[in-house]
Amino acid sequence: MVVGAGLAGLRTAEELRTRGYAGRISLIGAEARPPYDRPPLSKKVLTEVDPPDPSLRADFAALDVDFRPGREVASLGELGDWDRLVLATGALPVRLPGPGPQRVLRTHDDALALREVLKPGMRLAIIGAGWIGAELATAAVGHGCEVAVVEAGVTPVAGAVSPAIGAHMARWYEEAGIDLRVETPVESVEAGGLALRGGDWVAADEIVTAVGVRPAVGWLAGADGLVLENGVAVDGGLRASLPGVFAVGDCAAFWSSRFGRRLRFEHWDVALHAPEVVAANVLGGDEVYDPVPYFWSEQFGRMVQYVGYHGDAAELVWRGDPAQDPKWAACWLSADVPPRLLAILTVGRPRDLIQGRQLIASGAGIDVQRLADPEVAVAAGVRGDGSPRSK
Ligand SMILES: Cc1cc2nc3c(=O)[nH]c(=O)nc-3n(C[C@H](O)[C@H](O)[C@H](O)COP(=O)(O)OP(=O)(O)OC[C@H]3O[C@@H](n4cnc5c(N)ncnc54)[C@H](O)[C@@H]3O)c2cc1C
Repeated sequence: MVVGAGLAGLRTAEELRTRGYAGRISLIGAEARPPYDRPPLSKKVLTEVDPPDPSLRADFAALDVDFRPGREVASLGELGDWDRLVLATGALPVRLPGPGPQRVLRTHDDALALREVLKPGMRLAIIGAGWIGAELATAAVGHGCEVAVVEAGVTPVAGAVSPAIGAHMARWYEEAGIDLRVETPVESVEAGGLALRGGDWVAADEIVTAVGVRPAVGWLAGADGLVLENGVAVDGGLRASLPGVFAVGDCAAFWSSRFGRRLRFEHWDVALHAPEVVAANVLGGDEVYDPVPYFWSEQFGRMVQYVGYHGDAAELVWRGDPAQDPKWAACWLSADVPPRLLAILTVGRPRDLIQGRQLIASGAGIDVQRLADPEVAVAAGVRGDGSPRSK
């Protein structure tokens, strides 16, 4: 039985069939719609004249899956009998205090409703200059809205990546004509605007709260013996603390040997691939999920990509000058001698990203000078690698 019919839930069912499982599979989802993809919701669904259908086009008859939409499970006790249970309930957007109407952007319905109000001259206040906030701001500016973005951190994505990188992204907001206010915590969401801490006010016709999500595990709080730690705590094989129970996708905090800690990601790529491991282990296998994690964001006409995990980084090295070059990258290095590449963020440099992912996975020692030269391929930044300079 699989609870949660998003990408991770559907992929789990598909992978079970791919691996030859012929028994019963039930897929229970709170939403009325069949599974769909979320990344287009803050991109083409908001920007295109004819919005694309983000449906994952699951063929439940061909898969022989008993799909039960529109059913929000309130506790494990409701589920009846199961042999194996996969929790794939994803994450839910955080809302802020206050009596005023606030939108969020998580579901297809949220996106369609938001699309309707993005009109020239509409005053839109977005709380949070994170990935979703930036993508929504991009779309809203494209529709001619007057956009204010209110962010508690010192720069956009200061917590997720770093203030040094966020400072360069702040310029993208300015160039787009957005009123970006950093270090500005919102006190409450009111009718007609935002009350800011300190007494200031941002007038708005529409307000969207985009300050992040929390794993959707509230319904599991009473489950005896199920450890919840920033999501469902699972081992490297995505097994939870109760026998026969697994978790996958945005709701799962898995043990990573690669990074030496429990990690939970809200990345499409994790929801796509982790189900391969969950399905193998549901069927009695002993596979480990320990990826070099990857996500992307499309904002202000730029493709931003990030791979790795920079939690323990000792140094940040630039490739290119973000203040001058439209395309650049930032690399996080470990404290080892020689250092290893832990993570890389690229703006318009997809080759750096692909080669960076390989370098992170290999754990090879880095020649910092070569890595810092944007004319040298990332792959040639390995210490002792004598490859010629190449773009
Ligand atoms: C607008 C938007 C844009 C994004 N863009 C990007 C991007 O550009 N790049 C990127 O890497 N990632 C992006 N993401 C993140 C990515 O979409 C998620 O990581 C991915 O959707 C996670 O899939 P999931 O199946 O784990 O969870 P979800 O997609 O959240 O699916 C979980 C499902 O479980 C259901 N559910 C929850 N609780 C219950 C319950 N108690 N009973 C039954 N059902 C329940 C939910 O209703 C939901 O349908 C974006 C996310 C959003 C919202």
